[in-house]
Amino acid sequence: MTTAILSALPDEQSTLVAHLVHPQRLMHAGRAFWRGELAGRAVVLALSGIGKVAAATTATALIERFGVARVVFTGVAGGVGDGVNVGDVVVAQDYLQHDMDASPLFPRWEVPGYARSRLVCDAPLSALLLGAASACVSSASGQFDLNNLVPGGTRGAAHRAHHGLIASGDRFVSAADEAHRLRTTLRDAGHDVLAVEMEGAAVAQVCHDYGIPFAAVRTISDRADDTAHVDFPRFVQTVASRYAEHMVLAFLQKL
Ligand code: SAH
Repeated sequence: MTTAILSALPDEQSTLVAHLVHPQRLMHAGRAFWRGELAGRAVVLALSGIGKVAAATTATALIERFGVARVVFTGVAGGVGDGVNVGDVVVAQDYLQHDMDASPLFPRWEVPGYARSRLVCDAPLSALLLGAASACVSSASGQFDLNNLVPGGTRGAAHRAHHGLIASGDRFVSAADEAHRLRTTLRDAGHDVLAVEMEGAAVAQVCHDYGIPFAAVRTISDRADDTAHVDFPRFVQTVASRYAEHMVLAFLQKL
């Protein structure tokens, strides 16, 4: 049983590739796939690419070409929920596309043909990931010197692992008023979003189509506000790969 570990960005993936035992690099669909073993488990590491279409292509290739039995995503995201701060992690309970809008033909956010707007992640895999994420954040402050990365805000505060709804869309959300509008519009419709990113919902949909279990964890790199474009690269360069490394290895050990 091979597990796919998807990352969005090279910085998030680099440490995982370095840990790979018997690494084998294969090109397919213009992408590099790394086959090997991590924590004694057969894995394929891949970059999703940025945005929903790129992520859907990678997920499809992982399933069709590499025959993976489950897909796990590790990446970064903008925190929009109350108390979802830089350095926290969010394990997805389910996913929604915040830029899906076929209204008035279908209700806002509903994915045409699926009769729903939210796609649920695999509960047992998500529970394992939440355990790994909780262990990681409880030791994060000491290990990653996060306080230097967060201007004001969460300085000195304990980091948390959250579990809930994540929204994906082909848009880097980097304005406080946009993040607020996105969150309140969704909340008024009963969708309480914790974080925004650009790939997860697409992977969830592909995995749903193939009946493949999917789970995702996102480390919060920014607050999707007016400083997101500064906070995001700083976080990715300094801590994102170490978070990914810790969580993925802990997750695979429990698998
Ligand atoms: N600088 C990158 C592009 C990053 S796009 C490059 O040059 O390749 C942002 C990535 O981080 C996406 O993978 C997205 O899923 C995630 N992300 C982090 N913060 C986000 C935010 N505020 N809004 C949307 N996506 C965000």
